[in-house]
Amino acid sequence: MIKNKRKMKQEKHIIDKKTILLMFILLIVLTTLTVYWNYDSRTTDSPVATSTNSNTIQEKNETNSIMIVEENPKPETNGKITDWNLILVNKNNKIPENFNVELEEVEDGHFVDKRIAESLKLMLSDARKEGLNPIICSSYRTQEKQEKLYSDKVKEYLKLKYNQEQAENLASYWVAIPGTGEHQTGLAVDIVSSNYQILDEEQEHTKEQQWLIDNSYKYGFVLRYPTEKKDLTMINYEPWHYRYVGIENAQYMKEKNICLEEYIEYLRKFE
Ligand SMILES: [Zn+2]
Repeated sequence: MIKNKRKMKQEKHIIDKKTILLMFILLIVLTTLTVYWNYDSRTTDSPVATSTNSNTIQEKNETNSIMIVEENPKPETNGKITDWNLILVNKNNKIPENFNVELEEVEDGHFVDKRIAESLKLMLSDARKEGLNPIICSSYRTQEKQEKLYSDKVKEYLKLKYNQEQAENLASYWVAIPGTGEHQTGLAVDIVSSNYQILDEEQEHTKEQQWLIDNSYKYGFVLRYPTEKKDLTMINYEPWHYRYVGIENAQYMKEKNICLEEYIEYLRKFE
């Protein structure tokens, strides 16, 4: 009996030892697993590392997309330099030799490009509703007509004792050299007040010009040769010459106070 009791005590002792050993092994295994798991997550799936990498990629992407925006930016309007209503005709840009235009009469034997006839009629009738009396004094011109007007102007200066070269240069600021005038496009009209029909700077002060200068953009027209843009247009101030460019373009040009040469230059950057 005593022997049995001792044996039991011994066995219990052995069990205790076994249990402690087992628990110790378990602890080592758990510690090893924990350490390994931590090490593994730091080196492979570390959230810090991922975040840094993704930030770098994002920054790279942002840089790339900024560069793309700079390479392919969009203009603030839908205007394109190849649009029919944005044709640039001036001393440096002659009207194409094969230029063709379908004309429509607006009033009193004045013809313009048929695509702008309705806009012009509406602008004139709206001005008349305001009690004003605008009249068209010049519209579409053929090459022959432009040649006649130009040579007449040159003769005026020759009479004033200028030599041929000087006379031609001075005349070109008032009447476009044939082939370089907008009237040949059918997109330009000269409009004056019926009360003051002289083509000089006083025209600006008539009620008709004041109204047209303020409102023509709503119909797609711009005052083509503003006084402060003479260096760019190479034409003297003409507060009677209106050019059709389309409503959106006209509105933009008026807002930014830019002439057609500047607007074309602006659009060219996006081509
Ligand atoms: Zn004109």
